[in-house]
Amino acid sequence: MRFHVLTLFPGMVEAALGESILGRASQKGLVEFSAVDIRSYTENRHNRVDDYTYGGGAGMLMQAQPVFDCCSDVQAQITERLGRPARVLYMSPLGPVFDQQMAKELAQEEELILLCGHYEGIDARALEEIGVEEVSIGDFVLTGGELPALMIIDAVSRMIPGVLGNTDSADTDSFMNGLLEYPQYSRPAVWHGKEVPPVLLSGDHARVDEWRFEQSLAITKERRPDLYEKFVQDNPEIMEERRRRIERAKRLEERRR
Ligand code: SAM
Repeated sequence: MRFHVLTLFPGMVEAALGESILGRASQKGLVEFSAVDIRSYTENRHNRVDDYTYGGGAGMLMQAQPVFDCCSDVQAQITERLGRPARVLYMSPLGPVFDQQMAKELAQEEELILLCGHYEGIDARALEEIGVEEVSIGDFVLTGGELPALMIIDAVSRMIPGVLGNTDSADTDSFMNGLLEYPQYSRPAVWHGKEVPPVLLSGDHARVDEWRFEQSLAITKERRPDLYEKFVQDNPEIMEERRRRIERAKRLEERRR
């Protein structure tokens, strides 16, 4: 998958994407990142890309021309490869808030353009002409779209097979099945007098899975009742199966007594 980040600060983007898991993934050719400098497209002889906003008000706005020309150039290259342009995500506090579901969906794309605003944002005419999809990373305002773009690239890249060492590790993450993740433990089995829950040392995979599911349910119910309610509504079979399992366990326990 190829990510094209259109930005006034390509160094910010390149520095982050060369490191750790994403750096290795790009070395292996599983993902490709390019940071495209919007400033190099300006027709202004002083190399300017921003100006005052019409109607007054504080702050500068990124002008339409360099943004539009930069995006058109990148789209022309993509169209040559794919036979169609790529989706353009504009990092913006006005968009729907990015989540794991969006990350899964975006991971199906072959190429993706992420457009980063700065200062007061981008001239509305350029956004309209390009046909952007706005995406927010939360109800707060940052100085630029570079960090949101990096967050989205990170979350989407982890969905791509081979990017994470163990393909299972993304499947069990929080939000992948609609629930928050269960607690996890590593060696030693006792640390600061605290023991790892015995079931995790039992070697009984079915019991481990049940324990993890119960932990996920309890944590989600406590911390994110909105997600819990949705999970219960969306998964009646799983909840019914769980009810039967608990009943069975109770009956066995009573018989044992
Ligand atoms: N004037 C804009 C407003 O009030 O909505 C804020 C502009 S902000 C200072 C500059 C740029 O940072 C935006 O154009 C956008 O690209 C990015 N940005 C800031 N907060 C963001 C958020 N929560 N999600 C996504 N992008 C954001």
